[in-house]
Amino acid sequence: MRSTQLTDERPWMRPWWQYSKGNGSVLFYIVSVHLLALTGLILFPLPSWIVLTVALAVASMGGVGITVCYHRCMAHRSLRLNPVVENILIFFAIFNASGEPMSWVANHRHHHAKADTEEDVSSPRQGGFWWAHIRWIYQWSGSDVRRWCPDMDKPRYRAWKRLLIPIIVLSSFSGLIFGWEAFFWFGAIRLVYVLHLQMVVNSLLHMTPGLPEGVDSSRNIWWVGPLQMGAWGENWHRNHHAEANAARFGRRWWQIDVGWYVICALKALRLASDVRAPREVLKKSAALDSTIRGQPAA
Ligand SMILES: [Zn+2]
Ligand SMILES: [Zn+2]
Repeated sequence: MRSTQLTDERPWMRPWWQYSKGNGSVLFYIVSVHLLALTGLILFPLPSWIVLTVALAVASMGGVGITVCYHRCMAHRSLRLNPVVENILIFFAIFNASGEPMSWVANHRHHHAKADTEEDVSSPRQGGFWWAHIRWIYQWSGSDVRRWCPDMDKPRYRAWKRLLIPIIVLSSFSGLIFGWEAFFWFGAIRLVYVLHLQMVVNSLLHMTPGLPEGVDSSRNIWWVGPLQMGAWGENWHRNHHAEANAARFGRRWWQIDVGWYVICALKALRLASDVRAPREVLKKSAALDSTIRGQPAA
């Protein structure tokens, strides 16, 4: 009894195969997609350019769906999106098997609120690398939507929840129309690639060895960026934790943040609005305004 209670409170202490209630299908998906990807890599180690390009393009759309729509727009409300654009991006995020919006936002807001503590959804400090990287997806009981995102409990988001499994089935098998090579590369290999490049945000980007308790573990890692078709700009994770409500994750010109460039383009097309800039950008523009007006900046 006592040990059950302990593993409920600290689920990283369970053996890796023990999924939480209702998450057996998630573990089944993770194991099968890896087995399929491995089989695909053995049978078709080098894909044709067309298959690779289409797979990367779809993976990138899902990455934009996660970073711009799920993360910056829905979880942090740092911008508003045109509803048509929002729905297109949700579709591509689910097509990458990144989950439906309500649970994603609940888990993510929970992560920020409790970062690095025992209540953090995915802290490597508590559960180690593999917990933070992948085990939490099927061993965490899931953050409560009513507590963490009552604003998301709406029919249009609940509809996406019902569409989750059909879209993942479509995503996994639709390549078959174009043959076995497309089946593996457009399906399982793409899905495994985006899965791990999203998961590094929870694992690698929160791992700073030797940090004392109570110190923020989030990191910026530049080289994750070029690899991260799954979520562009997310590699500036320390910048993001320092100012979670800013829509821009890069802070310097060389900190490439594709999600931000997409937001700027959408804003220019009037498909995004109420975009929140980081404090230092706001300060600079206030200083520029006051210089133009000939007054000292506040
Ligand atoms: Zn984080
Ligand atoms: Zn965040």
